[in-house]
Amino acid sequence: MSQGVPFTDMKAHVAALRGEIDEAVARVLGSGWFILGPEGEAFERELAQALSAKDAVAVGNGTEAIQLALEALGVGPGDEVVTSPLTAAFTALAILRTGARPVFADLDPATLNIAPEAVERVITPRTKALLPVHLYGHPADLDPLLALSRARGITLVEDACQAHGARYKGRTVGAISGLGALSFYPTKNLGALGDGGAILVDDPDRAAHLRRLRNGGQSDRYRHEISGVNSRLDEVQAAVLRVGLRHLGAWNARRRALAALYLEQLADGGVCLPLEQPYAESNYHLFVVRHPRRDALMAALKERGVGTLIHYPIPLHLQPAFAHLEGRAGDFPEAEAAASTILSLPLYPEMTDGQARSVAAAVRDSVAAIG
Ligand SMILES: *Cc1c(COP(=O)(O)O)cnc(C)c1O
Repeated sequence: MSQGVPFTDMKAHVAALRGEIDEAVARVLGSGWFILGPEGEAFERELAQALSAKDAVAVGNGTEAIQLALEALGVGPGDEVVTSPLTAAFTALAILRTGARPVFADLDPATLNIAPEAVERVITPRTKALLPVHLYGHPADLDPLLALSRARGITLVEDACQAHGARYKGRTVGAISGLGALSFYPTKNLGALGDGGAILVDDPDRAAHLRRLRNGGQSDRYRHEISGVNSRLDEVQAAVLRVGLRHLGAWNARRRALAALYLEQLADGGVCLPLEQPYAESNYHLFVVRHPRRDALMAALKERGVGTLIHYPIPLHLQPAFAHLEGRAGDFPEAEAAASTILSLPLYPEMTDGQARSVAAAVRDSVAAIG
C-alpha cells in the first residue's frame, strides 16, 4: 500500500532550521537596521562565493533580478529578447517590463530547455539578448548559445531562478555568461521566508550600476543619478538566506539522491523520466515525468494521496497576458507537447526514502490503473 505524500512540505523545511532561523532573525531585530545593511552585504558576498560568481547584487525577487539584469544591458523598447515558451510566466513578464518584446524559441525535447537551432532561427537585427532558462534546475546547453550570442554581437542572461548550484560542464550556472538571475521564492532550492532575488554579475561597474538601479538610482543618499526602482532585499530575509546558504549543498545532494531513487524505482514504471545530459549536473528543483494521459495520471495520484503540480500547463505564447505577441497553437510544437504531458512529482530535501518509494509505487499503480 502506498501512503500519502504532499507535493512539498514547507513546515518541515522551516522546522529543520528553526533554531538557526530564530537566531538570525533575533540578530536583525536587535540591530534595529532593516534595509541595505550588514546582513545583505554579507549575504551578497557569501552567495557570490558559494556560486563561483565575482559579485552578487541582492534584489526584491527573481522577476526584478531578470528585469534589472536586462536593463543594465540597455535592453528597452524596440529590442527583442529570446527566451523559452515553457517557463514561469515571470521570465517573459520581466522582459515586457523593460519595454522589450519577448520572442520565443522551441525546445530541445530531451531537456525542455530552448534548442540552440531554434534560437538561431528567431534572431533578428532587433535581438538584444538571449535569456535561456535552466528549467527544473537542469542546465540549458549554454556553449552553443554563447557561441551564437558572440557571433551575433548580442548578450546572454541566464534565468537561473530554479538552478541554484546546478552545474554546466563543471561550472556553476547563473555565473557562466556574466549575468544571471536567481529567485529566492520560498519553494526554490534556496528560499527566503518571503520574496527575494539576486543577480550574479562578473563586471564590477555593472554591479555598481545594478546596486544603484535597485535603490531608486541613488548614488549617494537622496541623490538620484538614474531612474531606478525599489527592489531591495531586506535584512531579515538576507539573514535567513545566509542560514539557507549554509545548507544549500546538502539540500541539493539530498535532492539528487531522491532523484536517483525515483529513477531506479520508476525505471520500468511506464512514465518518461527526466535524463541528465552528459554536460549537466541538475539541482533537481523539480522532478518532472511525462505521460500521454497526464491528467488521468494526476487524478489517480491524487486519489492515492500524492500531490503533484504541472510546471507549466500553458505555454507562454498561448497565455492571455501575451496575446498581443500574436502567438498561435502550433507555433512551438515541442513546448505544446510538453505542456500537455508533464507532471512534477514531490521532491524536497526533507522527504524520506520511504516517501519517495511510496510515490514511485503510487505512480506504477496509477499508470497500470489508467491503462
Ligand atoms: C521563480 C521563477 C521566476 C520568478 O522569480 P520570483 O522570485 O517569483 O519573482 C522567474 N523565472 C523562473 C524560471 C522561476 O522559476
